[in-house]
Amino acid sequence: MYAPANVKTGKDFPIPDTMKAWVLGNPGELTLTEKPVPVPRQAEVLVRIDAVAICATDLDNIYHGPPAMIEGGPPFNKNWTPGHEYMGTVVALGPGVDEYRIGERVSVEIHAGCGQCKRCREGMYTSCLNYGLNYGDVNKGHRANGFTTDGGFCEYQVNHINTLVSIADEMSDEEATLVVTAGTAMYGLTELGGLVAGESVVVTGPGPIGLLGVAVAKAMGAYPVILTGTRDNRLKIGLELGADHVVNVRKENVVEAVKRLNGGKGVDYVLECSAAADAVNEAVYMVNRGGKVCLAAFTHEKTPVDIAHIVRNNIYLYGIRGEGKSATHRAEAFMRQKRFDATKIHTHTFALDDLPTALRYAKDRVDDAIKVVVKARGVAIHKVAAE
Ligand SMILES: [Zn+2]
Ligand SMILES: [Zn+2]
Repeated sequence: MYAPANVKTGKDFPIPDTMKAWVLGNPGELTLTEKPVPVPRQAEVLVRIDAVAICATDLDNIYHGPPAMIEGGPPFNKNWTPGHEYMGTVVALGPGVDEYRIGERVSVEIHAGCGQCKRCREGMYTSCLNYGLNYGDVNKGHRANGFTTDGGFCEYQVNHINTLVSIADEMSDEEATLVVTAGTAMYGLTELGGLVAGESVVVTGPGPIGLLGVAVAKAMGAYPVILTGTRDNRLKIGLELGADHVVNVRKENVVEAVKRLNGGKGVDYVLECSAAADAVNEAVYMVNRGGKVCLAAFTHEKTPVDIAHIVRNNIYLYGIRGEGKSATHRAEAFMRQKRFDATKIHTHTFALDDLPTALRYAKDRVDDAIKVVVKARGVAIHKVAAE
């Protein structure tokens, strides 16, 4: 029975000594194994994972490696468990924790910075200067579960209390996994200045962050909000989440369309979520002079950028990493108040044992998959032989 010293547990939530956990071998190779249930330390809790959403970044980590970094290098063959967009129930408290109680439902954000570097001290913990330094002689205690430490494709995980967001009782497990997605969009708009009420915003790319970017921008009062993309079915979901206009970039010139829809002058802000090859140039052509562009997606190739246009027009470019500045708390507040229905982007749920199938659905967009969730309990296992 799980009973580590100085850790509080509750009789309503018995904890086993070992748990199911997926681990990454070579690129793309995942194996279901048993691991010891981890033990929370000072300022940490143990979370029983109730649902995990798959993110495009999980696919980067699993197939390519970065941005995951384990023991200073690629994450392959290190007994590492990926997965980072999870929610669950607090089932054990490490020493000194009274901020959360056993039985409380929480969503998690990813980055617990080291807490001591310059960026952490500035509140920019997703840009911690000690990223991935949590081993050997250079251990700074940095954690980014599912990137630099074990993640959520398992049954239990430890989380620093700074990474927890308490969620409303009425919020389903599946919806709660989307708090971090909405939080990323919220962080992007925060970095752009946060004052988007009455300002024009284009969101490029109707993936999960883009679609919730539309919802968050609209909830913050932006007008008009224009969503651009290639798939009409995704653009339709954008309209349901509050977009005032949508543009299918295969049917018309996207820069001209955006200008036409906003009185000819271009927009104040672009939230770039498409990772399309020419996305940065299109974004800087869409904003007006002095406009701001947030880059929330990335390509694997380097791309030429029209620097002259950026300089001559005093355009600001921001890269963002993750869901910083406690944006998840603000996103959860919008979701709690039902300012938008994030569940419109949740399309599939599989059992934890069926993770390879779930990843395939997410990667190949099988059956128009957008957000695919896996759950350790309450979902029938359907292992597909070929996987
Ligand atoms: Zn993610
Ligand atoms: Zn730090």
